[in-house]
Amino acid sequence: MQPFAIAIHGGAGTILKSTMTPEKETEYKQGLTAAITAGEEILRANGTSLAAVEAAIRSLENNPLFNAGRGAVFTHDGKNELDASIMDGKTLMAGAAAGVRNIKNPITLARTIMEKSEHVLLAGLGAMEFAEKMKIDFESDEYFFVQHRYDQLLQAHQTDSITLDHTQQPSSTNKKGTVGCVALDVHGNLAAGTSTGGMTNKRYGRVGDTPMIGAGTYANNATCAVSCTGHGEFFIRSVVAYDVSCLMEYKGLTLKEACDTVVNKKLVALGGEGGLIAIDRYGNIELPYNSEGMYRAKITNHTPLYLGIYKDE
Ligand code: ASP
Repeated sequence: MQPFAIAIHGGAGTILKSTMTPEKETEYKQGLTAAITAGEEILRANGTSLAAVEAAIRSLENNPLFNAGRGAVFTHDGKNELDASIMDGKTLMAGAAAGVRNIKNPITLARTIMEKSEHVLLAGLGAMEFAEKMKIDFESDEYFFVQHRYDQLLQAHQTDSITLDHTQQPSSTNKKGTVGCVALDVHGNLAAGTSTGGMTNKRYGRVGDTPMIGAGTYANNATCAVSCTGHGEFFIRSVVAYDVSCLMEYKGLTLKEACDTVVNKKLVALGGEGGLIAIDRYGNIELPYNSEGMYRAKITNHTPLYLGIYKDE
């Protein structure tokens, strides 16, 4: 059998066992398991890595626990502005949407932009107009109203801070977010995708690394597929996902060495907190992060499901 492999993340940050209840931990693990299983089933049935990435991310977007789709954080004005991107490692085609509202599954919009438009990145009202034309599912504001997210916004308003969902917030339940998936299919093709609500209390149309090809998402059959989560401004400036690929392509580093260099050395030197998931064309998977934890899962055709939340699991 040709190898297949898939990994997902649900955000990185100050994720501590001491601040987690057993019930919440179970919910997160169930959410991760459901999402990775949705992708794995597609790969097992000889489906494409692109389809697997989209399916896994849709599952995470539909789960209010994660900062993407339904569970997206609130902007300063109490709205949800969503970013997503997807890339096909075989063709190097890519699609992305930034700052869109009321889109149920931004990852599907990103894939539709890749496949049905002449463009890579569509933003705001124009992206929504395209979504309507393509009959992408929209949802009401109420669908996106999740109480703990609203509480996070009220808290951020009080302190006038723009907070990353994964940053420790005093007296908050510190929910983590942003979701991503990387996969290798039995045809030898890699794909990556990422989806997020961004930062609580963001304003002025702030866009992070998630919809930026090369920063938050990158895939190339010659090297690897990468999906990032963390403080977007640092990930943009470090061109993180492409940097991992470049270190493999131009410097001959292994996936592990490339990930370690970018996440634990270069990002740390800049002060950029976060992590990523990455997979190479042999199905090797790396899940590095420089924060306290990262919601993560992986499975391959020859290894069982691994689920991790905290450090050193
Ligand atoms: N990278 C995302 C952003 O900056 C946030 C996250 O990963 O939690 O928008």
